[in-house]
Order: sequence, then C-alpha cells, then structure tokens
Amino acid sequence: ASQLVWLRNDLRLDDNPAIAQAQQLGDIQVLFIATAKQWRQHDESDAKLGLKAASINDICQNLAKKGIAFTLIEVDYFADVADALLAFCQQNKIEAVWFQQETALDECRRDEQVSQTLLENHIECHALESDLLVPVPVLTQKEEPYKVFTPYYRSWRTLLEDRARPPYDEPAKQGKAIEVKNINPDWAGKYRDDLWLAQETEILQKLQQFCQKKLKAYPDKRDYPAMPATSTLSPYLSLGRIGPRRLLHTIQYYCAEQNLHWQDNDWLRELAWRDFYRQLLIHFPELNKEKPFKPETDKLSWNDNKSEFEAWCQGKTGFPIVDAAMRQLNQTGWMHNRLRMIAASFLTKLLFIDWRQGEKYFMQTLIDGEFAANNGGWQWSASTGCDAAPYFRVFNPQRQSEKFDPDGEFIRRFVPELKSLSAKQIHSPTSAQRKEFGYPEPVVDYKKARQEAISAFDALK
Ligand code: FAD
Repeated sequence: ASQLVWLRNDLRLDDNPAIAQAQQLGDIQVLFIATAKQWRQHDESDAKLGLKAASINDICQNLAKKGIAFTLIEVDYFADVADALLAFCQQNKIEAVWFQQETALDECRRDEQVSQTLLENHIECHALESDLLVPVPVLTQKEEPYKVFTPYYRSWRTLLEDRARPPYDEPAKQGKAIEVKNINPDWAGKYRDDLWLAQETEILQKLQQFCQKKLKAYPDKRDYPAMPATSTLSPYLSLGRIGPRRLLHTIQYYCAEQNLHWQDNDWLRELAWRDFYRQLLIHFPELNKEKPFKPETDKLSWNDNKSEFEAWCQGKTGFPIVDAAMRQLNQTGWMHNRLRMIAASFLTKLLFIDWRQGEKYFMQTLIDGEFAANNGGWQWSASTGCDAAPYFRVFNPQRQSEKFDPDGEFIRRFVPELKSLSAKQIHSPTSAQRKEFGYPEPVVDYKKARQEAISAFDALK
C-alpha cells in the first residue's frame, strides 16, 4: 500500500474521511503515533489514556480482519512526530499521507512541521478538513468570528444543512485477515471498563439507542443528574470514535421517525457548542496559552488557598451537591453537565480560586477531557470567557441542588453518609447532622463569598 492514513483524534473506521478518501486511490495502511509525554504535558488523564489505548487496539483488530495493516509508533513529544513519520514513509515507500486537521495550537504546529517535512521529501500530504460538524469558518457578515453562541449557532445550522452528506462507509477489505496481537502500551492508564466502551460497534449502537429512546425527552430531563437523560457519549466524541456525519445522519433518521424537526433538535444544539469552542481556538490563539478570553479578568487576584482547593478536589466542601459532583468525577471519570457548571462556579466564584486550577484538575481526571470544551466550560463558569455567564449571576449551590436534584437521589448515590436525610434536609444538613454523619461543615459562607466575588469583578470596571 502506498497510501498512508495517519489517525490522530479521529479514532474510528466508520465515517472517517481520511480512510475513505485514501482508499479510493488504492490500498491503504494505517498508522498511529503515540506521544505519551506530550499528552501528559497536556494533562490527559489516566482514564483518557486508558480508553485511548483500548480504542487503538479495537481499531487494530478491526483493520486486521479487513487485511489492512496497522502500525503503532511511540515517540515522546509532538516535536518528534515529523521525523518518525518521514522515516516510516521512506521505509514503507509511502506516496501520500492522509489525515484530518485539528484546531488546537500545539496540534496545528505539529501538523505544519509534518506537512513541510513530507513536502520537502516529495511525499504528498492531504490535510483534510477538521472533525467538526461544520468544519469551515462560520463567520459574521463582516467576515469576523462570532463571539456570541446563538448567532453562531444560527449560521452554523444553515451551513450544516447546505453541507449535509451521508457518512463515509468503513474501509473495504483489502485481503485476507492478518493475525495481530493485542495492543497494550505502557502509557495506557486505568479506566472504568465496566462503564466505558472500547468497541466501535458498541459505541455506534449506543448512539442509535440514545437517539431512538432519549432525544425526545432530552430538553426536559437533561439538567437532572440523577436521570440517565444525556448521551454520555462525550468520552467517545473527544477521541473521535464517532464521526460528525454519522452523528447528523443518526439524529436526522430518528427525528424523522418520531416526527421531530432535526433542525430544532436540542441535542444537535449541544453538538454545536462543541464546534463553537473548538473553532474559537483558531480565531483566538491566546486561548491556547492559558489566557482568558476577556483580558481584563487576568487582573483578578485569585485566592491561592490550598486546603480549600483540596477539599473541592476530594468532594469535601460541605456542600452536598458539589461534593456529590466531585466524587462522581473521581469515581467514574465523568461528570454531568449541570454539575460541571455547579462545581466550576463553586470553585471560581465562591472559593475564588483561579479557573486554570480547576481546568487542570478536570483534565487530569476526566475520561472525556477535551481542551476546547473544558477551557470553554471553565471560562464560561468563571465569567472570563467568550459568551460567558455574567459575573453577577453566581450559582447558589443549595438552590441548584433543590432544583435539579429535588429528591436528593443523586446526592445519596455519591455522598452515602447523608443518605438517611430527608429530601428537604439533604441539600443543607444542620451542624448536628454533619457531626453525626461525619460530614464536613461548609468551607465557605455562600452569601459573603458571593458578595466578595461580585465586588472583585466590579472593581475591574
Ligand atoms: P450530551 O448532553 O449528551 O451532549 C452531547 C455532546 O455534545 C457531548 O458529548 C459533547 O461532545 C457535546 N457538548 C455538550 N455540551 C457541551 C458544551 N457545553 N461544550 C462543548 N461540548 C458540549 N465536555 C467535554 O467533552 N470535555 C470536557 O473536558 C468538558 N469539560 C467541561 C468543563 C466544564 C467546567 C463545563 C461546564 C463543561 C465541560 N464539558 C466538557 C461540556 C459538557 O459538560 C460535556 O460535554 C457533557 O457533560 C458530556 O456529557 P454527555 O456526553 O452526556 O452530553
């Protein structure tokens, strides 16, 4: 095979443009280059690296059944990739390399270096559109990037409709099945394989089942963490285990079946947020450099309190909903979206700890950790970001808890020491109850902390 597909963050055979387009020209082989030290530098969690390794193994096995060779090369950093790829191409007489672009700065730099190296050595380089639902620039009439989500989303939807195409098929068989061993690299961390799927076929089934059974109720139920109402597909979407055209096609199919307008679908709107945050990284490169979208917010004097940060990380703040959220993260590698907002708002507004510390802890723990969405979510919560929450609207953890976990069902699941408390008491136990159940006093006074945070932001004006 003289066509090489270089997989990166598009770990799938279904709906993979690089694979499909390369195979139109001839036989392909597939390569993945692990850069474990770089990933660790980017704070990728054990769980994420575990699922990534298992996903690569699944790809290798599926390709082998089709008679397509798969190679895993291991280097340390992105800076080592160009040389490793060139050596591989020369050894294997590769004519052309195919890959899908990404949007984060370090990845873009790596790819520029690769493209240049390949071209200098007369190897064709096909850098395909990035893995977004709308991979072209979504710009205002003045040809500027959107800074507000809703108008972005309106243009995005029009473009999505214009560009809608069927998903790409899996690669065709190229020959007899190849015998391969299981891949189990030493950078693979532990993840909850009782909760998360490594097989592409199972992931695609999960997508279908979600769209068939849960799309309709999604808008009403998506904010209640005790309910299994969201897709929990984020770990797979962050690794590119599902393709954007497959997503759209599945949504359209099941909306039609249920007489719903796919264009107005709330779940599709969430996928637009994913595109929104990913493309922001291209338009506003400072976001890649630990900078806030609103530069003036870099003047805030964050509170560098180690014990309060530790209490937050461990789920021991004395605010039951926050603690349940953090324990869900620590135990499963995943946290419900409503809880991510509550936990992030608590850290940045009430403890007034720098959002970058929370962003880092999330990345180091989440199985779905994705720089663009995580940075976007943290900056939204901290009111430092693009189209962020207004700074004077500070989440009240007790109110959020009463509203979105009204029976305390979710809290009971993750803070079992409080499980005997009634639905009324569980959101804010008394001091006597805390003593009795060995549950901490609140680390902070909500009203006072809220006022201080608002004053700090007011002072920036
Ligand atoms: P669903 O409700 O089923 O949504 C479907 C998909 O849409 C998600 O899987 C995700 O790919 C995308 N999506 C949904 N909401 C958002 C959003 N607000 N921003 C970007 N994409 C979105 N998401 C990540 O994938 N990785 C992260 O590291 C991450 N960090 C976050 C940090 C904070 C502080 C906040 C507030 C949000 C973060 N999110 C992150 C977004 C969101 O919380 C998760 O995508 C969602 O909870 C995943 O669960 P799900 O797959 O069941 O979502």
